[in-house]
Amino acid sequence: MTRLIGSGSLVIATHNAGKLKEIQALLDPYGVQCLSAGSLGLPEPAETGTTFAENALIKARASAEASGMAALADDSGLSVDALGGRPGVYTADWAERQWFEGEPGRDWFMAMGKVEGMVQALGTNASRACAFHCVLALAWPDGEYAVYEGTAPGTLSWPPRGEMGFGYDPVFVPEGYDQTFAELDPADKHAISHRADAFKKLVADQFG
Ligand code: IMP
Repeated sequence: MTRLIGSGSLVIATHNAGKLKEIQALLDPYGVQCLSAGSLGLPEPAETGTTFAENALIKARASAEASGMAALADDSGLSVDALGGRPGVYTADWAERQWFEGEPGRDWFMAMGKVEGMVQALGTNASRACAFHCVLALAWPDGEYAVYEGTAPGTLSWPPRGEMGFGYDPVFVPEGYDQTFAELDPADKHAISHRADAFKKLVADQFG
């Protein structure tokens, strides 16, 4: 049987205020008060895992151990079938502007172009199937944990289309739709996304 978060406080293993707000809104109905690892001054561990689940667990465990409270972390990314699942856990890294002088930053157009270039190099018959993945990991200070995996299957589209969303949204067309994630109304995206899928599983298990 899965251990339950219950009502009370939960550390969200993120230093990203946007992610904290989104997760707090999802857990509000269940009486869970979210505190961010950033606001508690908890350390950010290196994401050295080779799977989404490993990285989510590394983050959740680090926050649970440092705070003495239950902690929740997520890890997500895009896996392209023809590229053997890449960029996968390196999805954000592929957007890193290594040669950029000045402020560090991410170039999503460059990252989408890299994915597209690699698929095109495989020839016109290469599969364009891909999926966004999201893994949510819950960890307790005594070492117990639970993992929930969410997926949004789709196809790669080129050129990028749409102004909404973030990251690789402009080249991702979810299964059953003609528009990219960046063209869809955000509420529609949030209803079918990999993150929504993972949260549905967490909520069913923890509060069902
Ligand atoms: P992380 O989970 O914060 O490590 O980020 C993984 C990366 O995957 C993000 O920086 C985005 O580029 C990409 N990603 C994750 N979810 C989405 C999404 O819903 N749309 C577009 N890109 C996403």
